[in-house]
Amino acid sequence: MARTDAIVLGAGIVGVSVALHLAKRGLSVALVDRGDPGRGTSYGNAGIIEANTLFPAAFPASLKSLIRIALKRAPEANYHASFLARVAPWLLAFRRNSAPERLIATMRAMRPLFSRALAEHEALMVEAHAGRYLRHTGWLKLYRSDRAFAGTARERALATELGLPVRVMDAAAARALEPALAPVFRHAVFWEEAASVTNPLGLTRAYAARFAALGGVAVTGDARSLHRLGARWRVETDDGPIDAEAAVVTLGPWAPDLLRPLGINLPLAVKRGYHRHFGSRGNASLARPVLDAENGYCIAPMEQGLRITTGAEFAARDAAPTPVQLNRVLPAARDLFPLGDAVEDKPWIGARPCFADSRPVIGRAPGQFGLWLAYGHGHSGLTLGPVTGRLVAELMTGATPFCDPTPYGAERFATA
Ligand SMILES: Cc1cc2nc3c(=O)[nH]c(=O)nc-3n(C[C@H](O)[C@H](O)[C@H](O)COP(=O)(O)OP(=O)(O)OC[C@H]3O[C@@H](n4cnc5c(N)ncnc54)[C@H](O)[C@@H]3O)c2cc1C
Repeated sequence: MARTDAIVLGAGIVGVSVALHLAKRGLSVALVDRGDPGRGTSYGNAGIIEANTLFPAAFPASLKSLIRIALKRAPEANYHASFLARVAPWLLAFRRNSAPERLIATMRAMRPLFSRALAEHEALMVEAHAGRYLRHTGWLKLYRSDRAFAGTARERALATELGLPVRVMDAAAARALEPALAPVFRHAVFWEEAASVTNPLGLTRAYAARFAALGGVAVTGDARSLHRLGARWRVETDDGPIDAEAAVVTLGPWAPDLLRPLGINLPLAVKRGYHRHFGSRGNASLARPVLDAENGYCIAPMEQGLRITTGAEFAARDAAPTPVQLNRVLPAARDLFPLGDAVEDKPWIGARPCFADSRPVIGRAPGQFGLWLAYGHGHSGLTLGPVTGRLVAELMTGATPFCDPTPYGAERFATA
């Protein structure tokens, strides 16, 4: 490459969006991944652009849920016992951050990103001719018990306060929207303004193609080869070394592999998750993603089939897959919807990169001039990719950022 202004390391939805936003601002950008764009965590999510999400996923509030998880009977969570000691400090921090007043504080801190998330996707989709992937059909959450539904009251009240449309439905009204659902649930909450995509990989690829059309260069290389060369950063790639004044780490769950050797130790954990596609019986279909809240899975209609995604598994990122949660949820999913056969031989596994305060890190890397961070988007990386791309590009080019980036700074861990 001739002159390179910035190296973006990791081509998931976050890295591709950062690279695209930098290229839109006239920078010469190299996007480095060890594989094809969009094949990491960004491949396998539920495709929900959940821009009206208010509360993040939280530590279980009831003793009953905790006991079920401990006994490995809970569909929503699983763990490897050998990993618990390592993740314990993170879990304690996550528990502290799940106190009601902390959830509200997180909601307020994240609102600037979430409230712009869909508009930022839509803008990139127009440029990238990717509008065919977008569905404006909302997100339907189902509750089988009155108790679980009652637990949503605070979030619904807040949504109404913020002017976000949220519709409470009984089973009949929900089935008018989704006739293939069996009436095994009592309540539904319809988040009308949520959107979703039918192929997260296709979407990331379309944004990567737009980046290339603007002159961006995607290269294969190992991000861990990043090192200083005088005042610049250098990464080794299959096309030779690339140097630039600035580098951005968008490696999702793999970010610590690069950052730890540079002396940057931020407390990231992963919540592993699985998916598998299924056919349907007869003409049954869904027009939108559906969450079976108490059973902790989502059915998301995708181009590949009906994608069933699972909740969190606490285990080492690279440990062998243990997709027990999929087996636990399948009976409930089959009761709810006439699923057909599995499409693939085995489930897909991914690892949500999560900080315990449910906020990503976006901004300068502490103590490393010219190094920027954008990772740790947890359950919402698909949603937040493009809006993160905008914010990073504004910060890196000295433009006025569209929101105060302080809540997302790595510095928050120094004072935690
Ligand atoms: C089951 C499941 C369901 C989900 N559902 C949703 C949802 O509905 N909506 C939502 O908003 N979010 C959802 N998420 C979360 C979302 O998928 C993630 O937050 C998001 O994909 C993270 O994107 P990323 O770009 O940070 O990471 P990634 O997509 O993982 O990208 C990181 C990239 O870094 C590359 N890489 C790693 N190591 C190296 C190296 N050494 N050298 C070079 N390259 C390297 C990888 O190949 C990869 O391409 C879900 C996640 C899971 C697991």
